[in-house]
Amino acid sequence: MIHYHFACNDPHSHYFSVEAIFAEVAKDFTYVYLPAWRPGKYQLADFAKNVQRLTAYDGDYNPLAVKKVKKDCWQVQTKDVETLKLQYNYFAFKIDAGSTYVDEYEWYINPINCAVFDPDRMDEQCEISLHFPEGFQVATSIERKSKHVFVAKDYYELVDTPFIAAQNIAHDRFELNGIQFHLWFEGECRPDFDRIKQDFKAFAQAQIRSMEEFPVNEYHFMYKLPSYPLRHGVEHGNSTMIAFGPGFKLMEDQTYQSFLGISSHELFHTWNVKAIRPVEMKPYRFNEENYSPLGYVAEGVTTYFGDLFLLRSGVFDFDTYTHQFNKLLNQHLHNYGRFNLSVADSSFDTWLDGYEPGIPGRKTSIYIKGGLVAFILHAYILRDTNLEYGLEDVMKKLYQNFAKQNQGYAEADYKEAIESIAERHYDDEFE
Ligand SMILES: [Zn+2]
Repeated sequence: MIHYHFACNDPHSHYFSVEAIFAEVAKDFTYVYLPAWRPGKYQLADFAKNVQRLTAYDGDYNPLAVKKVKKDCWQVQTKDVETLKLQYNYFAFKIDAGSTYVDEYEWYINPINCAVFDPDRMDEQCEISLHFPEGFQVATSIERKSKHVFVAKDYYELVDTPFIAAQNIAHDRFELNGIQFHLWFEGECRPDFDRIKQDFKAFAQAQIRSMEEFPVNEYHFMYKLPSYPLRHGVEHGNSTMIAFGPGFKLMEDQTYQSFLGISSHELFHTWNVKAIRPVEMKPYRFNEENYSPLGYVAEGVTTYFGDLFLLRSGVFDFDTYTHQFNKLLNQHLHNYGRFNLSVADSSFDTWLDGYEPGIPGRKTSIYIKGGLVAFILHAYILRDTNLEYGLEDVMKKLYQNFAKQNQGYAEADYKEAIESIAERHYDDEFE
């Protein structure tokens, strides 16, 4: 069991103090790491740069020798030590869908940023205690053991779980096919829950009907709504964290459409990338680049289906849908990088400059070109099968043959799934 205590004595400083406790150490040296990146953004982020003053102790708080051996790795002398306690401060002053932030009004924590790990103990149960102020409510997807204590089955689940603790969190829920869907809103907003639930039920139903089953039996849409423009979502196994603003415009037409778009996109990620995962990222290795050519499937297919399910469910009318689609086309056609780097190579290179404009004309977008490639593949499969099958059948196949067997898929598996459904070779398309 690994235990993490989070406290914040001075919220104005935006520092959390963290204590990580590793029981039953039994090693002469323990190497603890902080992740160098987070799933969903395939580029190094080096969260260790937010760590201040890391110290190590045994169970009785006798100091232990600790030495930094890599930019995000600490070596601790643990010979004859039963319990290792690490203490450090984490600077929590960034707001997006994958960051950590603290002030006097809220605790917003993505443990992937700030929870250290021992690579030898990834599968052990983790407990996280959040000593937030009296009167705070908590939004999270994880099991709650007591008021301040939450339990994850292992480190992977812990770091796949965002927390928002704040005074005012609006919450509602709906049920679909026996699955509980939660809606959490924190920030300056007035969500019209009746309308939101009606639309969410419709697109979630369309996705589940098409994919035939949902990977989890409970799902949490978590929104953090600042008062300024922001649109950023991160997918998790049974939740999504979406930072979206301005919150006070949430229910206005254009903003609401954008809100539906990102929500449907993130929900489809529950299958595509969280369950159906590139083999290069299974399991995630948090301290190095996990290079994969499949970003265009993870993000492109999700971009394409996110909007398509809004159309199929009637949440978007055809004009709204084509307006979104035209945006993709426009952005793609104005990017001359498409002549210089394929979308698969651009997937590989997200680790270099995947989330910034980069130098002119160097690369394509796994979201935009990836979405258009998904559309083309979908159209080809429909043509090849007299409209009987589409790209969703490919995703369904990958879900059954790989995700449900707890295996990652390779690019060759994706191609093979397409070919087996379309009943022809796709060598030219994949060249
Ligand atoms: Zn995405």
